[in-house]
Amino acid sequence: MARFDWTYDEVVLAASLVAQNAWQGLRVTSPKVVQLSELLRAAPIHPIEGRPDNFRSKSSVQRKTFDIATQHPNYTGKPTRGGPHDAEVLAAFISEPVPMAALAAAIRDQIIAPPDAAPADDSDLDELTAHEGRALAVTHLRRERNPMLRAAKLAAVTAKGLPIACEVCGFDFAARYGERGEGYIEVHHVLPLHASGPILTRLDDLALLCSNCHRMIHRGRPWLTPSALTGLMGGSS
Ligand SMILES: [Zn+2]
Ligand SMILES: [Zn+2]
Repeated sequence: MARFDWTYDEVVLAASLVAQNAWQGLRVTSPKVVQLSELLRAAPIHPIEGRPDNFRSKSSVQRKTFDIATQHPNYTGKPTRGGPHDAEVLAAFISEPVPMAALAAAIRDQIIAPPDAAPADDSDLDELTAHEGRALAVTHLRRERNPMLRAAKLAAVTAKGLPIACEVCGFDFAARYGERGEGYIEVHHVLPLHASGPILTRLDDLALLCSNCHRMIHRGRPWLTPSALTGLMGGSS
């Protein structure tokens, strides 16, 4: 991707406006376009240095909503050129509107309350910071505990008819602990932040894990992927 290209998260925010607008692009006169322009100009997604004057201006936000809207299957004209994530994000909004709307809310929430503002008194942090930088660990935990992001992930899993259970070992808290375990699961963000950039959140990058598997993934460097952990368990049984 070229410098200052729209990231996946930014496209999710623009696409949520398109989805709320009956899949039509929005004009610079729309207050929603003005708000999104202001939000993206304030967001720490791209470095401030070297930004062009029209960086995420109202007209660039307008253009992006039309890039997305013209990718809709019902759009009869010629699609505008757009960027790498436009079609993918639009398709996700069409097939999973509720989780994607929640994802957009979670991304907005992360921009407004950036990870560095997280309280640092978390006991889990000590174990994580032994292996990764403190800022990285704080961001990781905060993202995994973001209630909107968690709700979006659980909604997406439930919509697919899948159980709320550990993706590695299959542990189901409700099955084991009854009512007390109902709805309990930990959410793990699969991509290490140094690979994904400061903010990048696809629901597919979130894994549902039991507490044991989640601990094992974070124990040692590098953090394991869920499938690598599954491999370790397979090797011993
Ligand atoms: Zn597990
Ligand atoms: Zn995790």
